[in-house]
Amino acid sequence: MNKKKMSIANQVLIALIAGIVFGILANSFFPKPFNEGLSKWMLVPFGNIFLRGIKMLVAPLVLVSLIVGTASIGDIKKLGRVGGKIIAYYLLTTALAITIALFVANIVNPGIGINIPAPKEFKPTEPPFLMDIFVNMIPTNPFEALVKGEMLQIIVFAILFGISLALFGEKGKLLLDVLENINEVLLKIIGIVMLFAPYGVFALISNVIIFQGIDVLLPLLKYALTIIFVLLVQVLLVYGSLLKILGKVNPVSFFKKFWPVMVVAFSTSSSNATIPVNLETCEKKLGVPESIASFTIPLGATVNMDGTAIMQGVASIFIAQIYGVDLTISQQLMIILTATLASIGTAGVPGVGLVMLTMVLQSVGLPIEGIGIIIGVDRILDMSRTVVNVTGDAVGTVIVSNSEKELNLTTYNSTLSA
Ligand code: ASP
Repeated sequence: MNKKKMSIANQVLIALIAGIVFGILANSFFPKPFNEGLSKWMLVPFGNIFLRGIKMLVAPLVLVSLIVGTASIGDIKKLGRVGGKIIAYYLLTTALAITIALFVANIVNPGIGINIPAPKEFKPTEPPFLMDIFVNMIPTNPFEALVKGEMLQIIVFAILFGISLALFGEKGKLLLDVLENINEVLLKIIGIVMLFAPYGVFALISNVIIFQGIDVLLPLLKYALTIIFVLLVQVLLVYGSLLKILGKVNPVSFFKKFWPVMVVAFSTSSSNATIPVNLETCEKKLGVPESIASFTIPLGATVNMDGTAIMQGVASIFIAQIYGVDLTISQQLMIILTATLASIGTAGVPGVGLVMLTMVLQSVGLPIEGIGIIIGVDRILDMSRTVVNVTGDAVGTVIVSNSEKELNLTTYNSTLSA
């Protein structure tokens, strides 16, 4: 390395690897009380400082950038077209992801011939009623929506505000300028918070590995590996081909610029927390216009969860096999439908995939106690599937932008300066 400073992206990657290695070493060699002290005094606080730093930006950034984005589209027809395309993309890719997961799981049979670990106690959370999801998209109080970080409600309010601002015409120009400036400032704050990312990522990852240890994966290795395999297929094969065929862009350039976002998703396990970095990367590095990214990325964080759908597909087959139930083709179609619909109303936060799994299992009459068996390995799988969830959002965003002829290909294809 010459005198040039290493880019944050590279630092983040090194932090990830160092965190994993450190976590494994500490788990194997350090005494438990030492690890507990380390976690309490260093890892948890450092991890939380980073996590809170990025979460701090989610609500204001989604609100302001979506208002600015919608107001600058100013054309309701176009907004409807972009909305239609992205929702179709989100639903189809989720259905495809779970179909691949079911297909692979039916071949691998992850639940056959394993020693069933005793189920941990699992308290199912009441899944939301489908119609309530649509009704609850309308906030009764936009400030409450912001305070609680209700993503769909913030989206609905911001779009209405943006459209109305555009309808306001010349008189609204001043407010729009102010909001544009606030938006730029918020993006600068992300830049500052990301300076801390290497430390945050190191702390978050090593803390998980120290206490989970890789050995929790062992009894459920076949299950975990099946999920990880399908996640890889989805990222490399499905997204790679979609970018190439539908997006007509080079997938390698995408991944070269996008992987720091993947690392943030992996270490935080939260699509929501990843929104700010995802937005910044789409707009500044991949050449997506703000008018599209500010809408599709926050929406995707809530409604598009391909990685989670993959876990649900494999988990359904796994649990069915453990309980000796044969799932018919029509039951498997039901799983595809429920998992796709379930993803719409649930926020992208850690562990929510298991709540959605409750709905999926219930739809085909599988015992939800089965979740208690897989819960032990879910932390690491949650991290992995969140990477796929956020990647799917950005891939769709790039594809829709290019289909609208609004992707800045010069920015997309440019090489990154360190
Ligand atoms: N943690 C995931 C996300 O935020 C959701 C899940 O699968 O639990 O995207």
